[in-house]
Amino acid sequence: METSKPHAVLIASPGMGHLIPMVELGKRLLTHHSFHVTIFVVTTDSQTTTSHILRQTSNLRSLNIVVVPPVDVSHQLPSNSPLELRILLTMLHSLPFIQYSINTNTNLPPPSALIVDIFGLAAFPMARELGMLIYVYFGTSAWFSALTLYFPDMDNKIIQAHAEKHQPLHIPGCHPVRFQDNVEAFLCPGGAIFEGFLKAAKDVVTADGILINTWEDLESAATKAVREDPILGRFTKGGVYPVGPLVRSVEEKPEDGRAEVLRWLDEQPAESVIYVSFGSGGTMSEVQMREVAIGLELSEQRFIWVVRPPCENDPSGTFFDVANAGDMALDFLGEGFVKRTQGVGVVVPMWAPQAEILGHPATGGFVTHCGWNSVLESLVNGVPMVVWPLYAEQKMNAFMLSEELGVAVRVAEEGGLVGREQVAEVVRRVMVDREGVDVRRKVKEVKVSGEKALSEFGSSHLSLAEMRRDCQLHVQTCEPKVPAAAA
Ligand code: UDP
Repeated sequence: METSKPHAVLIASPGMGHLIPMVELGKRLLTHHSFHVTIFVVTTDSQTTTSHILRQTSNLRSLNIVVVPPVDVSHQLPSNSPLELRILLTMLHSLPFIQYSINTNTNLPPPSALIVDIFGLAAFPMARELGMLIYVYFGTSAWFSALTLYFPDMDNKIIQAHAEKHQPLHIPGCHPVRFQDNVEAFLCPGGAIFEGFLKAAKDVVTADGILINTWEDLESAATKAVREDPILGRFTKGGVYPVGPLVRSVEEKPEDGRAEVLRWLDEQPAESVIYVSFGSGGTMSEVQMREVAIGLELSEQRFIWVVRPPCENDPSGTFFDVANAGDMALDFLGEGFVKRTQGVGVVVPMWAPQAEILGHPATGGFVTHCGWNSVLESLVNGVPMVVWPLYAEQKMNAFMLSEELGVAVRVAEEGGLVGREQVAEVVRRVMVDREGVDVRRKVKEVKVSGEKALSEFGSSHLSLAEMRRDCQLHVQTCEPKVPAAAA
C-alpha cells in the first residue's frame, strides 16, 4: 500500500444519474491523478442496472467499490414525497454503514478527502471528525452550481419578485434564470423544497472545494463567476474546479456480446438515426407516449426509442426502479406501431446502451430530457439534440443548449402535452432541415473543446491536478486521523 498517495472516499447517491458521474470521477482520480479511491454506492434496491454500471469498472482492480446494503425508507415517508426527500433519507440511513466501513478498513491509507454530491452533505461531520478535506461534486452545469452557491446570499425580495411576478432571477456573472426554467424550489419560496435546498446550499459553501462536471470553454461566464472572488467565488470557502466532461466510456465487447440495437445501428447510414430517451427516471403519460409514437412515424426518420410503461403524474416515475418493468412498456404504443415501423425504428424496453448508441456513427440526433449526463454524452459525441426537459434542473439545461449554445432545438409544451405534429417537426428540424446543419456544426465544435479540456494541458485536467495538490499537501501537513478501529 502506497501511504504517500491521498485516499479519496466518494459517496454516490441513489439513481443512475448520480452514480455514473461519481464512478467516472473516481476512475479519473485513480487513473490520471494517482489517488487511492473508494466509492460507496448507495442504492435503494439491488438494481440490475447498478450492477451493470459497476461491472464496467471491474477492469480497474484498484478501484475500491463498496455497495452499501440497501435501506428501505418507504415506511417513513408518505408515498407522494418528493424524490429529493427519499434520496436524502436513504443517504442518511446509509451513513452508519459507511462510517463503520471506513473505520475498519485497513487495506488503504486513512482517507484524506471526502467527495459527495448535494445529497451527501450529512457526511460532513464524519469527514471533519476524521480530518478529511471535503469536496462537493456537482454532476450538473456550472450555471446550476452558481444558482446554488449564490442562494444563501440572495435577497428575499428578489426571490419573491421571481416567484410572484415571474421576473428573471439574476445571478452575478451568469445568464439570468427565467421563471419558467427554474427548479421547483424557487417556484414556492418558503415551502419545504425551498427550505431544504437553502439548507443544502448553506452547507455546500462550507466545503473545502467544489467540483463541477463541466468545462471552461462550454460555460465560460458561469465557470468564471463561480471561481472569481469579485463575482461568486467569495461565497465559497474553498476552490472551485470544473473537471468535465466526465462521461461513461464505451464498453468494448466481442461481436456476439453486442446488444441487438447496436447491430441494427451498424446497418444504418451515417447520422441517419434519431435516438429518443428520457434518462433513467423519465416517464410520460399514456396519451403522451402515443403522440411520440405517431410523431416519430410522421417524421419519416429512422429511430431508436427507449420506452417505459406510462406514469400519469410523475415525470420521474422510474427513478428508483428502472429495471423492473420488462417488456410491458410495448403495450402502450398504440395498435400496430411496432409492426408498422419495423426496419425503420427499434423500440427498446426500459434500458438501452446509451453511451454506445450516442457514440455510434449512425446516430444523428438525440431527443433528450436534458439530464446532465445525457447532455454531456451527446456533446462529447457531437450529436445535436431535441431538448424536452422533464424535472429537476433540466429546463435550465434545455435553455442553455438551445438558446445559448445553439446545439439543440427545444419542444414547446402546450397544456403539458407535446402533440404528434410537433414531435415530427422538431425531429425533422434537427435531422433534415437547414437549421439542423448549423446545430450539427456547433455541436461538433463543442465536442472538440470538450476533448481539449480533458487533454494533458487542458483546463479540466489542470483543475483536477490543482485539487490533487491540495489533497497531497493536506496528507503531508496534517496527517489524517487514523480511524479508531484501524489504529
Ligand atoms: N442511461 C442509459 N440507458 C438508458 C437510460 C439512461 O445508459 O436507457 C444512462 C445515460 O447514458 C446516463 C444516465 O443513465 O448516463 C442518466 O443520467 P442523466 O443525468 O442523463 O439523467 P437522469 O436519469 O439522472 O434523469
